[in-house]
Amino acid sequence: MKDLTRSKDLFEKAQHVIPGGVNSPVRAFKAVGGNPIFVKSAKGAYMYDEDNNRYIELINSWGPMILGHGNELIEAAVAEALKSSLSFGAPTAKEVEMAELICSMVPSIEKVRMVNSGTEATMSAIRVARGYTGRDKIIKFEGCYHGHGDSFLIAAGSGAATMGTPNSPGVTKGTAKDTLTAPFNDLKALKDLVEKNKGEVAALIVEPVAGNMGCVLPESNYLQGLRDICDKEGIVLIFDEVMTGFRLSKAGAQGIFGVKPDLTTLGKIIGGGMPVGAYGGKKEIMDYVSPQGPVYQAGTLSGNPIAMSAGLAILTYLNEHPEVYTQIESSGKYLAEQLALANSAIGKNYTINQLGSMISVFFTEQPVTDFESAKSSDTAMFGKYFQGMLQEGIYLPPAQFESWFLSTALSTTDLEDIIAAHKKVLNNLLS
Ligand code: PLP
Repeated sequence: MKDLTRSKDLFEKAQHVIPGGVNSPVRAFKAVGGNPIFVKSAKGAYMYDEDNNRYIELINSWGPMILGHGNELIEAAVAEALKSSLSFGAPTAKEVEMAELICSMVPSIEKVRMVNSGTEATMSAIRVARGYTGRDKIIKFEGCYHGHGDSFLIAAGSGAATMGTPNSPGVTKGTAKDTLTAPFNDLKALKDLVEKNKGEVAALIVEPVAGNMGCVLPESNYLQGLRDICDKEGIVLIFDEVMTGFRLSKAGAQGIFGVKPDLTTLGKIIGGGMPVGAYGGKKEIMDYVSPQGPVYQAGTLSGNPIAMSAGLAILTYLNEHPEVYTQIESSGKYLAEQLALANSAIGKNYTINQLGSMISVFFTEQPVTDFESAKSSDTAMFGKYFQGMLQEGIYLPPAQFESWFLSTALSTTDLEDIIAAHKKVLNNLLS
């Protein structure tokens, strides 16, 4: 067994001064049991805890570290920027460069506003959609997570689902009534919902490839179906690409599926590990944002020069190195295939969903296409599997309803180690 003494001591202390001992709920390991690991450092594909145990990384800060930890280009850009002050609260050349780069990489984005997190991006995107359409209601999908803005904590995925609070106390009835929900991958249910609320829906927000009920892919033509409904009903289509942006392709999920949203929200990779988010899209809509238009949105640290430098370094690299995507796509495919083979060798057909560098193993044998089917997973089994993998030195997201994130730092040997650990842990659990 690994020595986790320092992590245990730190968690004990943390619980006296931080709610639940953590600054974001899923980190507390509540869904998998045991104590959270306190991290000291990370480099490449490996993370080291306070007791000096090494783990192969499959969270990568929940997505941002697509090039692995300690990337030299990003760190050099940050070090250079540090020489010119940490923050100005005034426009900089880097913000212009960043906006131009984003618009060139994601063709549906004609104008973009930088914020400090994915949550800010989604909150701001629905505000501008409401201002633009003059309508109040929004539609989201069950099991999709769009950050912790009040309007989104209705049938929410990710930590909200695993903590058993998909509808959080503290969200007023008034706010909740304007958020309508529909099952993912079900165009018929969506059409009915839109019909019942005709002329009242400002925006439809969706993770084009869901990552917050575990990884769930859109069925063929589903995203185009959303586009068609929005066009017909004058609804603003928002792709929440906080997770998928710059991960599935340099133009995100929309680059793969060839469907253009009206607005896109971004986060995670866009900051290269710094706290950054962005929302952008059609000029006509973005021109509603203050000071050009009447929809207010602001931020003391928005466009922060250190964060912009990290973001510019990673996006420039991804823009110039398309082979990143072929490499992690083939790692993702290989891992999914080998895990499936290992499962069938022990007589289990657990569902594995994978696209590019996003992958989830669901402890159910039923196809997972929406939140209902994701919930057929044996979450207690996932908890035991997670603990077993941790002991083998593999750090997975500590909940069934999350996607694993691969980085380019994973070597072939790392992949083989993950597969070997998976076989060993499942054999132990099932024998
Ligand atoms: N949208 C999606 C799809 C996400 O996955 C997340 C976070 O995981 C968010 C929004 C919120 O981003 P943040 O945690 O940066 O506020």
